[in-house]
Parts: sequence; structure tokens; C-alpha cells
Amino acid sequence: MLNENDLLGIMKPSRYLGGEWNSEIKNFDAAEVKFALGFPDIYEVGMSNLGIRIIYGVLNAMDGVLCERFFAPAADMEKLIRSGGWRMQSLENRRDLSDFDMVGFSLGYELNYPDVLNILDLAGIPLRAQERGSGVPLVLGGGPCALNPEPVSEFFDLFIIGEAEEALPELISLYRMRSQAYKSGRLDRKSLLAELASVEGVYVPSLYEVVYGSDGRIVSFAPRDPGVPVTVKKRFVKDLNLSFFPRKWIVPYVQIVHDRITLEIMRGCPNRCRFCQARQQYYPLRYRAPEKIKELAAELYKNTGYQEISFAGLSISDYPQISGVAACLMAEFRNKCVSISLPSIKPKSFLGDLSTLIATIRKTGLTFAPEAGTPRMREIICKDFDDGVFREAVSKAYAAGYQHVKLYFLTGIPGESCADLDGISALSAEVSELRRKPAGRPAEVHLSVNTLIPKPHTPLQWFPMETMDAILAKQAYLKRKVGGNRRLKAVFHDPKLSLLEGVISRGDRRLGGVIEAAFRSGIRFDNWNENCFWDKWMSAFAGESLDSGFYLRERSPEDILPWDFIDVGVAKEALAEEFNKVVAMK
Ligand code: SF4
Repeated sequence: MLNENDLLGIMKPSRYLGGEWNSEIKNFDAAEVKFALGFPDIYEVGMSNLGIRIIYGVLNAMDGVLCERFFAPAADMEKLIRSGGWRMQSLENRRDLSDFDMVGFSLGYELNYPDVLNILDLAGIPLRAQERGSGVPLVLGGGPCALNPEPVSEFFDLFIIGEAEEALPELISLYRMRSQAYKSGRLDRKSLLAELASVEGVYVPSLYEVVYGSDGRIVSFAPRDPGVPVTVKKRFVKDLNLSFFPRKWIVPYVQIVHDRITLEIMRGCPNRCRFCQARQQYYPLRYRAPEKIKELAAELYKNTGYQEISFAGLSISDYPQISGVAACLMAEFRNKCVSISLPSIKPKSFLGDLSTLIATIRKTGLTFAPEAGTPRMREIICKDFDDGVFREAVSKAYAAGYQHVKLYFLTGIPGESCADLDGISALSAEVSELRRKPAGRPAEVHLSVNTLIPKPHTPLQWFPMETMDAILAKQAYLKRKVGGNRRLKAVFHDPKLSLLEGVISRGDRRLGGVIEAAFRSGIRFDNWNENCFWDKWMSAFAGESLDSGFYLRERSPEDILPWDFIDVGVAKEALAEEFNKVVAMK
């Protein structure tokens, strides 16, 4: 077992220490079911993930169940583990992951998949599900990426599709009932997995067979046995007020990315942006009651001492009583010097009841997401964004003392032309100029420009993603357009990362070999900006005789998509209807 002295030579050893305020250390040997819960990125990122905190609390609240955390080791820690012949361990009792019954990963970003394999490898757990015997933990996946689990399906014994707060306890209860038979050898792993697949929302990839045609398209995707469900229904909690929220909020020793209380006030989004996969992930729309929010805020503050509470949700300005709840909490916490932050505010919030409250929060930067530069593009993506309201809101914000603005844009929207890119630079320049009247000079405007990825389960899923050449040409064009205005600072998302995310998120199970090759070539979360990163991925595709461009192609409405077997609660016909509207518009 690694001890504190082993950690003296590495960066930020507190990432690996555990023992934080409010973490839970149970008796390892006394637990009937031992669950290791992890995130394939560093501690600072993983501990900023609300899902990890919720599941940790849900499982540790179960009698006889123990849940301990693990996160991806940074390069120096990986080296230490490998050179010392150690194994990947949990934070709480520092036990090898291979000592647990289940090892679960929250999957939030496709480019972290090689890190999942690295963690399994460091744990001494065979990478492929089919190579694991009865003494090896079950490997589970969940989180946003599980909306298309196929690219990593060979590495996981099972997935939970959708929200795990209720599905995971059901799964663990069933496992507990059958574990004696399983551990004594009376029930084999395959039969156990088949039983676990009866829990709604559980997907066991090995129970399904995929047949590909000579052109690489899927010809059939079907269960191997008649008792296995043809579609897997995404799980969601019906009532946020009754669902678990972590009151014993872990306070890390090291500064994490979101180092504050994150208080989820809603799940789902009332808007219908056609490119948005998060909406489908968190569908349907649910609100937490104001009274519950106030009660949680008071308790979380008492249990942590944090001086910032951030409201969380996909579109919090659409929460019906947002100004009342925010005003109430601000009043309550003012004397304690606790601030309430409201991220991702819509422009209209600056014109309504919220405006006076927002003005009291901070007066430096503001962020808006017009997504596109012209109304035509916004109509195509169904973005609820009114230019007039936006201009009025920005002017009001400048008059109230705000100094600069950040704008989020997408390029690569179907039907996009140079005029639409011109719209991005023109709108940004206008936003800058709007400050001249109240403050005497233009504002600095930061543009964050991402490339649209037509994601699974969205109405755009059938569209192709743009090629590298097209992305680079558009980025170069936009750089020229905004380059002449020194007030505009544009940052473009790396096209290589966008393309890889596009390929993997739209991929099928044949990508397993590519992801394993990427892991074996040394790809990790912390080396994506190295020169050889792209070359290694391309070699991995070549080694598997797969063309990455195949996964970015246009799909036909008749195609069987790798993720079609997942029912997110939005019918494929409804998506197709929206898709057809875009086709008619572009
Ligand atoms: S407002 Fe945001 S979360 Fe809601 S659908 Fe649009 S992009 Fe998605």
C-alpha cells in the first residue's frame, strides 16, 4: 500500500491522500458490497463533478454498502505506481481497486477513454470485459458519454444509461442478493450479468450482437437472447425534491476547478437547441422547490464553511422563481460574507427582476452564448436568442459597470456561409462598441469559438461533421475578420480535439481497438497538447484499418445508428421531424 512518504516527490500529493472533511471512511472488510467510484481525469476535475458527489453519497447511505473514490493519476503518479509495482488504489481506505466488487466510472468526455484503460491497467484488471473472471470486479460505466456507450462497450461489463441515483441502488441490491451464489461459483459471471440487465436502464454490451455490412454500416444490432431488452430506457429521477443531494459536501485540501458549493436547482432544459445533447441527457425538465433549495443551502454552508454557493442547472435563468430564490439566499447569507453565483444567465435576465440582483454580484465579466452570428443560423439550431433583447441587455450591463463580455459561438452549423461568419465578427464588434456610450470606450470582447459536433440523440445526428480542411478554413477566415479589431480576442477550440470527440462520440464498438491502441501508445488526459497526440490517434486508427472520417459522415435516416437501442425519452421520429426542418431551411 502506498503511504505518505511515497508521495513526497510528486506534485500535489493531496490529490491522492483522501481524508478530506466530510469524506466517509467505512470498515472495508465489514461491507457486503464494495464499490469504487471514479472519474478518468485528475482529482481537481473529478471532485468538481456533481454526479460523483451524488453517487458517493447515495451509495454510502446504503447499509452494508461502501463507496470509495479514485481519480486518474497524473503522469508522475502513474510513473510512481508503475515503477514501484503498486496498484491503483481508492482514496478512503487505500485499497486496491481489484479488491472491490464493482469499479464504476463516470464518463464525461470521450477523450478520457484512454485514461479509463490506464486506470484498469494500473489496477491489474483485464481491459476487456470478456477476459475478466469471477474474482474480478464488475466494471461499470455511466454519465453523459453513456448515451452512446458503444465505442467503449468491450471494456465495460455494464452501463447505467441516464441518472444513476435510483438505478445503481437497485442494481446493487440485486447484486447483493446474488453475490453469495456468484462468489461461491454457483452463478457464473455471464448469468449474473444477464440478471443485472433486468434492472431498467442497465445495458450489458456482451448480451448484444452487432453485424456490419461490407460498407461498414450496421446491418443489425440485436440481443443475443430473447429475454434481453431490445431497447434500453434511460433512467431519470421523477422528483428532484425526493432525490438524494449530498449534504455532507466533501471539502478538498487542494484547490479544485469548481471550489465551492454547487447547488443544483433544476435538471433538464425548457429550450430546444437542436445541437444540444445535454438537453437529451437530462430530459425531462424538473425543478427543485425553492424551500428545498434554501434548506440545502443552509445545511451545505453549515457543513463546509464555503463562501460561495453556485446555482447549477442547464439554463438557470429559466427556473421560474429564480429572482425570489436568489434574493432570499443573498439576504440570508450577506452577513456571513457568502456570495451566491448565477452562471449562464440569459440576456433577458438583465432586463427583468434579476437585473438588480445580478448587478450586486460582480461587475467584471459577463458571458453570453449567441452561438451563431446571424438570425438565420440561430433559427437552424433553434436557439432562443433575440438580437434586440441582447443589445439592450449588454447596454444595461455596461451602464451598471460591467467591463468586458465573453461570447460563445459555434461554427460548422449546417448551411453556414461566409455571411454567417461575418455575422459573428460583426456582432462581436457591435457588442464591444455598445460600451462606448456609457463608459467612453469600447469593451474588450472575448470570443470562444467551438466547432459543432452533430451528437447522438440530437436532431442534427444525421448531419456530417465538418472536415479538418473546412474547420481550418473557417477558423482562418474568422481570425482575419476579427484580427483587425484589437478589442476582439478570439480563442478557437483545437479542431483535432473536436474531430476526435466527433469520431468517438458518433462511433461504434469497432473503435475499442483504436482506444486501446491510443492508451498503449501513451495517450493520457494531460498530453493532448503535445505534437504527437494527433499522430498517435491516427496511427491507432490505421492499426485497426479504420477510417476516422467514416464516423463523421452523413447518416441516412434508414441507417441503424450505434446508439439507436437507447431510448432517451425523445422519439427518433421527433428528432427526424426536427432534422427535416433543418434540411428544408439550410
Ligand atoms: S439552452 Fe443550453 S442546455 Fe438548453 S437546449 Fe439550449 S444549449 Fe442545451
